[in-house]
Amino acid sequence: MAGVQRSPASWCGSGDDAGGGRVVTADAAVVGSGPNGLAAALTLARAGWRVRVYEAAAHLGGASATQRVDGALHDLGSAVHPTAAVSPFFGQVGLTDAVDFVTPEISYAHPLGAGPSGGAASVLIFRDYERTLESLGRQSAAARAYARVVGPLAAEGPALGRLFLGDPLATRGACLWQERTTALRLARSLAAAYQPHMPLEVSAALEGVRAHIPGGSYSPAATVAGLFLSALAHHGWPVPVGGSGAIIAALAAQIEDLCGDGWYELGREVTDPHELSEPVVLWAAAPEALAGAPAPARGPGSAVVHLTTDAPIPWADPRLARAGTVHLGGPAAALRRSERAAARRFDPANPYVLLSQPSQFDATRAPAGTHVLWAYVHVPAGAGLTDLGGEDAVIGAVTRQIERQAPGFADTVTRAWVRSPRELVRGNPALIGGDISGGLTGVGGMAYRLRRTASGSSAGGAYLASSSAWPGPAVHGMAGHLAAVRALADAA
Ligand SMILES: Cc1cc2nc3c(=O)[nH]c(=O)nc-3n(C[C@H](O)[C@H](O)[C@H](O)COP(=O)(O)OP(=O)(O)OC[C@H]3O[C@@H](n4cnc5c(N)ncnc54)[C@H](O)[C@@H]3O)c2cc1C
Repeated sequence: MAGVQRSPASWCGSGDDAGGGRVVTADAAVVGSGPNGLAAALTLARAGWRVRVYEAAAHLGGASATQRVDGALHDLGSAVHPTAAVSPFFGQVGLTDAVDFVTPEISYAHPLGAGPSGGAASVLIFRDYERTLESLGRQSAAARAYARVVGPLAAEGPALGRLFLGDPLATRGACLWQERTTALRLARSLAAAYQPHMPLEVSAALEGVRAHIPGGSYSPAATVAGLFLSALAHHGWPVPVGGSGAIIAALAAQIEDLCGDGWYELGREVTDPHELSEPVVLWAAAPEALAGAPAPARGPGSAVVHLTTDAPIPWADPRLARAGTVHLGGPAAALRRSERAAARRFDPANPYVLLSQPSQFDATRAPAGTHVLWAYVHVPAGAGLTDLGGEDAVIGAVTRQIERQAPGFADTVTRAWVRSPRELVRGNPALIGGDISGGLTGVGGMAYRLRRTASGSSAGGAYLASSSAWPGPAVHGMAGHLAAVRALADAA
């Protein structure tokens, strides 16, 4: 945008009197302080712009904040960060080095109940690809199937980051061309993902990852996104020491280095970008609030269950303690059934549960001898606790799923609480209906994101910079960064 006054980066929109009685505003406002809002602010500040971040909540971080409760650190939103590790922007600003990540030896595990010999059968996806094949039984049908699907992408972490998270507009296809080898490998993986008669272990593992994408079962776009995450399992599914808030703190520290303090305002919900005096607005929040701008189609909600325990999970298969993430809910067919029903009705009998056990790897999360656990289930959009049968019903459903694989687990729980879709949106207005993805991520949802990113600030008067823009959900900061790059280009 022409006419934006650049000024020394030591001043970032405190709103102070600039002399002569004139109250100056920043060059750009950023609405929302999640990872995308902060990535947008940092990109602009690095270019010498004065930025001011407006945040509705009483803290920075959005769906990547961490809260201390009774001395334990609970991630309110994101918990596991494979995309942060391959984000081109985070790499560029050194964030991946600034944050202390621990990468579990087993990226994720999927217990399938008692094995034929009476022992527990678990699918273990090690960060080390070769160990994964070994654990599947190197010459087995499962190992061969896994190699066909994930093998082509197992060594492609950073290239996949560039391919999936890069800017498809600015480079006019050049990115796709540069990453063509990876794109071809992805096509091979995708073809193999649809092979008939997939062994039970592999179909469960792949479905468990695909189910990270709410409302995504059966969608080819969810399969592609699932393959991205599956491949990143061999680059690592890290957790930050101290919780996801460590990522937010590292971004905020960099902005503060450039801007000094006073660059953000908490407790300020912006209802319309035109109410702000800054000439450029980056909207790192839900597009529904932008008058005149189309809203994305939304998926189901999520209900997050926070648990503290006085012992590690007593897994029947002790190897599960070495996995950062555990998918519960049985084989692929059961997961698909429960995920299909979840959008309409919460069925506590056998939900798909995505569980993270961070204090197994990060001693700072909980006082000595205690643990924190984080889990979520997909539920109807907008549901409150009463719609879900009450808090105990949700806690019971998640606890039972863990207990099936870890008898005695329920006795270790010292505290548990649930945030239903209604509570999620109360804490973060960007999580419309408890949708944690900023809109569906099927072909239609990704086309929406591409259109919104391409339309710049024309739709709704602000650059959309949240996970509802390209490249979509997860913690990578790229939606904010790309929106800021576009605003800088327009101003040049
Ligand atoms: C429960 C849950 C679990 C998740 N798990 C993972 C995970 O394990 N790994 C992963 O990579 N990703 C995960 N995600 C997704 C990831 O957290 C999001 O994709 C990411 O945080 C999106 O960043 P954002 O900046 O676009 O929006 P958000 O992080 O949602 O931030 C939006 C911010 O804008 C503020 N805001 C909204 N409206 C206004 C307004 N009108 N005025 C002022 N401020 C406003 C909000 O209060 C909020 O602080 C999870 C999300 C949730 C909710």
